[in-house]
Amino acid sequence: MYEALIKGTNKLITIDTFKRQYGEKAVRDGLELICPACRNIVHPYALVSFRRKACFHHNPNTSCIYLDERDSYIAIPKQWDIESGKRLRASLGDKEFISKLYCFCLTLCRRGNLPVDKFIGLVKKADKRNLWSHAGLEEWIIGFVLLVLDDFEAEDKSGRPYVFRFLLEQNFTKPNPLITKSKQKVDIEDLTQQGDYFLVKVFDNGNLMRHPEGNPYLVSKDSWKKFSKEYEWAYKNQGDRLLKRVKELKE
Ligand SMILES: [Zn+2]
Repeated sequence: MYEALIKGTNKLITIDTFKRQYGEKAVRDGLELICPACRNIVHPYALVSFRRKACFHHNPNTSCIYLDERDSYIAIPKQWDIESGKRLRASLGDKEFISKLYCFCLTLCRRGNLPVDKFIGLVKKADKRNLWSHAGLEEWIIGFVLLVLDDFEAEDKSGRPYVFRFLLEQNFTKPNPLITKSKQKVDIEDLTQQGDYFLVKVFDNGNLMRHPEGNPYLVSKDSWKKFSKEYEWAYKNQGDRLLKRVKELKE
């Protein structure tokens, strides 16, 4: 990766700035750099190489979502925004907002298919990659992104289990995509361009699902409002529990 945080601060630094203003010596003198996603120590690499592009490297055996390319359908952000990330993560501590977010995800999964534990698991996955600090993320986008972080299990009317998932697809046109995994990595920044991306709900075999109506769903503020508008039910019945569980994640 090309950006890291200076430990003990919220200051992001690019590898190029690091090269110019600090260099190897600063590290030898005790300056520590950490990954904005997993918060593990990273080291500047190839600072003086002509052949290799300089970057920050994790230690071997570090567990960071961005080290496993296959696992990161959401692209490594071109830019981090640590301050905004803190604000967005803190907004989950607002009972109305967390209830809306849960309602949005629940409506799209449909009742019965999104237990609170599963929803909290999605937030945990977002925490693990510090998704909140991707530059460009806004409150209304969070739900769309949470839904693509995992697969979902459900049962049909006769009790047979099936798997479904959500994909983010650009310029979706075909009536039946038969896609099971997204082809491209998604930059969160690009999702703010309303009208470009669709959230597509598919069975494990790639067939489009019919419910709720309107699949694929445009990634837009209108869709966010539409699927979160009946949040009062969640507020009344699950609001306190959601707050408690989200708070526990931070501890
Ligand atoms: Zn990392």
